[in-house]
Amino acid sequence: MINRLITLFSLQLVDDELDQLEELRGDLPLRVNSLNAKIKEIQDQIDEKESIRSESLDKRKDNEEEIERLTSNLKKFKAQLYKVRNNKEYDALTKEIDHSESEIERLSSENVDFELNSEKLKSAIEELLPSVEENTAVLMENQVELKKIIKENEIEEAKLREKREKIASQVKKADYSVYMRIRKALKGKAIVTINRSACSGCHNIIPSQRQIELRQNRRLFTCESCGRILVSPEVSIEAEKSLGK
Ligand SMILES: [Zn+2]
Repeated sequence: MINRLITLFSLQLVDDELDQLEELRGDLPLRVNSLNAKIKEIQDQIDEKESIRSESLDKRKDNEEEIERLTSNLKKFKAQLYKVRNNKEYDALTKEIDHSESEIERLSSENVDFELNSEKLKSAIEELLPSVEENTAVLMENQVELKKIIKENEIEEAKLREKREKIASQVKKADYSVYMRIRKALKGKAIVTINRSACSGCHNIIPSQRQIELRQNRRLFTCESCGRILVSPEVSIEAEKSLGK
């Protein structure tokens, strides 16, 4: 049983070292993530505005072509007015002329709206662009810094990961999942020793009967106060020895 506890405690010791490496990164990984998200959000807004703007420019162009066509028809109709032979022809032509003129007017006014809208979108996009640039610059700085830190500890981290894998493979499956669950919940230490009659995780005093049982290293105890796995100092000393500390 004591070996089972020593292995588990060794896993914690290696994880402590990995946590320390992680800590060196500070809030850089978080900052990089949030900057990426922010930039994407602004870029999405820009893309949306760009697409509405280009749609509106396309419609404007279609309208212009239609206005051109109608204007040239209008010219023809007006020329034909001089050659009409009867009232019926005259009425038909004026009807065409009226229709073309009102269509041209409608399309022109629509184009004024498209133009205004496209200008509005253009300036909104221009307002957003500096924010993308600024955030990208900060992101690059953070990424460079983070890469540098990761690079500096690359070899050490790889060694620790290898060591961790080896130890983890020796830990009982059930113990491992308990360990990981506590570690996740309490962010870090899942297994601790007694220090001056107290749990070194939460500093709560352990009843003396419990301490005696603990020192026998016969089973897995958890701290009644914080829920961490509790082991005797002997286990911690042996674990450190096994890691060559
Ligand atoms: Zn505790």
